[in-house]
Amino acid sequence: MKIAIIGGGYTGLAASYFLSKNKKVEITLLEKEKALGGLASGFKEKGWNWSLDRYYHHIFATDSDILELTKEVNCKLNFIRPKTSVFYSGKIYSFDSALDLILFPHMSTIARIRTGLTIIFLKIANDWKSLEKITAEKFILKTAGEESWKVIWHHLFNSKFGESASEVPASWFWSRIKKRGRVFGYPVGGFDALTEAIVKKIDKKRVEFVLNTEVKSITKDKSKITITSNNGRFENFDKVVCTLSAKDFVKITPELPHDYTNQLNKLRSRGTVNLILSLKKQFLTDDTYWLNINDKEFPFIGIVEQTNFISRSKYGGDYIIHIVNYLSDDHPFFKFNEKELIKKFSSHLKKINPEFDESWIKKSWVFKSSFAQPVFSLNYSKIAPPIKTPLKNIYLANMQQVYPWDRQTNYAVELGKKVCNTILKSS
Ligand SMILES: Cc1cc2nc3c(=O)[nH]c(=O)nc-3n(C[C@H](O)[C@H](O)[C@H](O)COP(=O)(O)OP(=O)(O)OC[C@H]3O[C@@H](n4cnc5c(N)ncnc54)[C@H](O)[C@@H]3O)c2cc1C
Repeated sequence: MKIAIIGGGYTGLAASYFLSKNKKVEITLLEKEKALGGLASGFKEKGWNWSLDRYYHHIFATDSDILELTKEVNCKLNFIRPKTSVFYSGKIYSFDSALDLILFPHMSTIARIRTGLTIIFLKIANDWKSLEKITAEKFILKTAGEESWKVIWHHLFNSKFGESASEVPASWFWSRIKKRGRVFGYPVGGFDALTEAIVKKIDKKRVEFVLNTEVKSITKDKSKITITSNNGRFENFDKVVCTLSAKDFVKITPELPHDYTNQLNKLRSRGTVNLILSLKKQFLTDDTYWLNINDKEFPFIGIVEQTNFISRSKYGGDYIIHIVNYLSDDHPFFKFNEKELIKKFSSHLKKINPEFDESWIKKSWVFKSSFAQPVFSLNYSKIAPPIKTPLKNIYLANMQQVYPWDRQTNYAVELGKKVCNTILKSS
């Protein structure tokens, strides 16, 4: 059975890994970039021992599918308890524990108690289906109260989901609170090392990795499915798995029926523009790894200081920060280069660390992706596309299908496993 997998991110890699255990399959994985790993891929500068992810990445202790995979492929993980904080009203506040919430001075005692109880409720609750009927905003207003919504949550939702923030279901909020622990895992060597370990374990007799190849179309007749790529390559397959966004799947698959494409085109997502700086000095001097910016005047939503999580000795002694943004794909930042972003961000970086000066910057990189965060709506479970599409033997598997969970490498691995089971069951 000849199977094509389009996209070499964690969904495509996991699908290849699990399918390749079956002796009857012959897989071709087509990836448009020069490396595998997708959003979780990284890069390595001269003098660094570890590669750095293009977008901040870590694994939660509850991420069972990816934890199991790391064991199977013999990739070692380090578990660390980094510090999470919030920048509010010109100051950094630690935001890791119940005590931090109690000590947070910008809410009344009642609001702090209600916020704490809401978090405890979401940690315990399992019935996410009833939570998808109500927006997160309404749920938080009802449980934690207006003060909590205004002070803590409103801006965080806005910065992640933009104009769709008020439509996000409480089930998404539940999944974020439910799964997030305080201990984070990180592959020794970076996510590139995990990708390499997965590839190493895959039987190369069964899987061919074709890089630098962008799939332009998937077409189908009675007996075969043809894939055409940008470099003129075309090949026939028995089955095709597409791991691109629903929008891109529609673009390259002209024979999909109209009612189905209409449904896929309604699914929304956000992009990301991530500026990485290597610095001469530590930026978040209180050792915060993850800083949420809770201030609508800021042109970014978070700072992730990688070297407050992983020792800077792995990156040639440099201090590394990610300056994070989730944006609609027509946002002007998608046209900005590193220098323009630094110019835009510099004065705000100074507000967080007044000592900061552009002379601290040794090097900068910017990474952009138009498909970075699915936006779920009320009752999303009813519209989430299944793996099987209306075209027989063509399958769709991407971040828009991992609901109620939020997009994560763990759910990409779980989805890859589901794709494998679906294909093997139907053949
Ligand atoms: C800013 C950010 C932070 C994140 N942080 C975390 C985190 O801390 N922990 C965590 O677990 N997850 C995190 N994630 C999520 C995680 O990266 C994704 O859930 C996961 O990588 C999705 O994998 P995927 O294979 O579904 O998609 P992708 O990684 O997007 O893979 C799709 C692949 O398809 C390729 N492609 C696109 N078009 C074509 C084409 N026409 N032909 C061939 N190939 C094509 C792309 O180049 C890409 O390699 C983060 C994501 C972002 C954006």
